[in-house]
Amino acid sequence: MTNEMLTPLTFAEFAEFCSVIEKISSTLELAARIASFIKKIDSDADLYDSVMFLMGRVYPPWDEREVGVGVGLIYEALKLATGVDRRKIEDWIRETGDLGLAAERAVSGKKQLTLFEEELTLRKLREVFDEMSSLVGEGSQKKKIRMLADLYITASPLEARYLTRLILGEMRLGVGEGIIRDAIAKAWGIENEVVERAYMISNDFGKVAVVARNEGREGLLKMKVQLHIPVRMMLAQVADSISEAVEEMGKVAVEWKFDGSRVQVHYGNGKITIFSRRLENVTNALPEIVEEIKKGVSENVILDGEVIAVKDGKPMPFQHVLRRFRRKHEVGKMVEKIPLEVYFFDVLYWDGELIDRPLEERRKVLETVVKEGERLKIATQVVTSDVSEIERVYGDALEAGHEGVMMKNPFSPYVPGKRGKHWLKLKAVMETLDLVVVGGEWGEGKRSHWLSSFELACIDPETGKLLTVGKVATGFTEDDLQELTELFKPLIEYQEGKRVIFTPKYVFEVAYQEIQKSPKYESGFALRFPRYVRLRDDKDVDEADSIERVARLYESQRKG
Ligand code: AMP
Repeated sequence: MTNEMLTPLTFAEFAEFCSVIEKISSTLELAARIASFIKKIDSDADLYDSVMFLMGRVYPPWDEREVGVGVGLIYEALKLATGVDRRKIEDWIRETGDLGLAAERAVSGKKQLTLFEEELTLRKLREVFDEMSSLVGEGSQKKKIRMLADLYITASPLEARYLTRLILGEMRLGVGEGIIRDAIAKAWGIENEVVERAYMISNDFGKVAVVARNEGREGLLKMKVQLHIPVRMMLAQVADSISEAVEEMGKVAVEWKFDGSRVQVHYGNGKITIFSRRLENVTNALPEIVEEIKKGVSENVILDGEVIAVKDGKPMPFQHVLRRFRRKHEVGKMVEKIPLEVYFFDVLYWDGELIDRPLEERRKVLETVVKEGERLKIATQVVTSDVSEIERVYGDALEAGHEGVMMKNPFSPYVPGKRGKHWLKLKAVMETLDLVVVGGEWGEGKRSHWLSSFELACIDPETGKLLTVGKVATGFTEDDLQELTELFKPLIEYQEGKRVIFTPKYVFEVAYQEIQKSPKYESGFALRFPRYVRLRDDKDVDEADSIERVARLYESQRKG
């Protein structure tokens, strides 16, 4: 039976299901409800879309396509479809705190056009999104507004709520990756770890759900790392000391911890793709690196490394690298202004998957597949169990302007997405927090056209909910404020006086003097004297620090 012959899932059914689970806060129950919902879906396409849409995603993060509809276009489409203008909708957002609910209200007032309107299905939505994402250039905004307005015309109020939230990428269902993983596992009776691993190497829960349903546990286990599809990057835990690492591992492979930004390079079928740590495709922003890879790297490989910006032999602050990553136009100018180098430290694939091989073996492959060049380097590695030898490497790294060292277990596999004990990092700086920017305030006087203060939140990783912990207004240079204002303006969901609320998208690293208990913020904690360190443009919202980490730091300062 082909998918086309199966009953398509209507968006009304989907929205109805969302409205039911929106009221559930128990993660166990959420996973159970989602499991029974996805189990009943007929076609692969509907299963794929349901899983993605529940997470507020249209495409996997690494897919270059994006629907490209921001808040502004939503206002215009709603106006066209319902006649309700922006000001009214902003009033409703103030009341409800959510553009989805405001859209629902706008649509509930619209006149029913005909009784025989076409019903919205997930398949239809997917078609519209695909078309929107393919529109470029002049007139594309207008077309998108028209297409979105058509959807609002067909939509019921409840559908409008979830359509709006889906486009904004924020379903407000409390459904994070953990819950989707558990739901897939439960639906087809597979262990969580097996589902998790399949996800870490494909980064596509839609696909994982379809394989789980059609091929079961065996199918998931057979899923392999693939060229041009990013693997979740392996991460490091903090080491308290060098001797701790030596005790833990015996022999330690020590490398500099470069202060740049992570990249995963895929080279195969004549094509090079470079992914950032957030798994975004940043290939086009790095033309000089692409050229050197073509010259110095063997085909059919996936490499892991760090890109750093270097001027006069010294590393430039890490923000410069991110500025390069973000650059979409006139990339050539930036190539001269911010020269980059890449240091490779791992290889995940060479004519086949290598992630289960020990690091020492992967390292040998790395030295075979990469020929060093002007901008292309292999990170120097020293394997030793001598504490003073590691101290020397650590000192050299700091001297050279880098962050510290990475201490890796030479016998360990590459565990995608895992922050485990196989990699330990030792940095010289004090602990900072990586927090999601959820709101802000416009400045005063001369600075009134700049955002000058930002509201921050940590994350509850189970539910994906963001819990505020404070505001940061110091540590910014004027350049920072200008740049951040440009970056955040398109994310403004609504504004009241000077205060604005953003669609959560960016993470700030902040330093602080102390964490205090406080009823003022949703997390129950507040930061004393928070200071902006940098934009963690390489981190996704769901990688921000958790409420547990905030609580732990609070406890540890009490002990200390
Ligand atoms: P952190 O972001 O502080 O958790 O530190 C982990 C990051 O350090 C990785 O994601 C890399 O971007 C970066 N890094 C720098 N040098 C290395 C290295 N030699 N091995 C692994 N990661 C490194």
